[in-house]
Amino acid sequence: MTDYAKPLPDPQAPATAAFWQAARAARLVVQKCANCGYLRWPPGPACPQCLSPEGDWTQVRASGTLLTYCVYRRAFSPAFAADVPYAVGYVQLDDGPRLYGTMVGELDALEVGLPVSAVFDPVTPEVTLVHWAISSSADPARVAGEQKEESVTRS
Ligand code: ZN
Repeated sequence: MTDYAKPLPDPQAPATAAFWQAARAARLVVQKCANCGYLRWPPGPACPQCLSPEGDWTQVRASGTLLTYCVYRRAFSPAFAADVPYAVGYVQLDDGPRLYGTMVGELDALEVGLPVSAVFDPVTPEVTLVHWAISSSADPARVAGEQKEESVTRS
């Protein structure tokens, strides 16, 4: 194990293992219903649109729009005490689903409606967290700490 001190997801949990495996490769995936094609997040055992249990994971563009955000000025867990103030955003993906994620970058730059892109942050060898940042231009998804060009295709 590493000395990463914050709570981490279980990357082997059956319901979300595909998500964490993709994140390690700097790809964003969500569940796609095999019956009606609905892209769903959070993952679940059945499609909320047609109730079909059939589905698989599909890659989506790691970009979207900041729907809203909240600035945390108090650490609800001691593990985050050094991070306050920090922001958690609610992102409308360009491909449909909405995800929560920690926002990286200057808090003053946050504005509802701005385009955002994913920042893949490999915090341990097993876990890559997905954060979000305001897109500076046509900024593709990137890996934390580097500017990495990535072509994202939908499957
Ligand atoms: Zn469906």
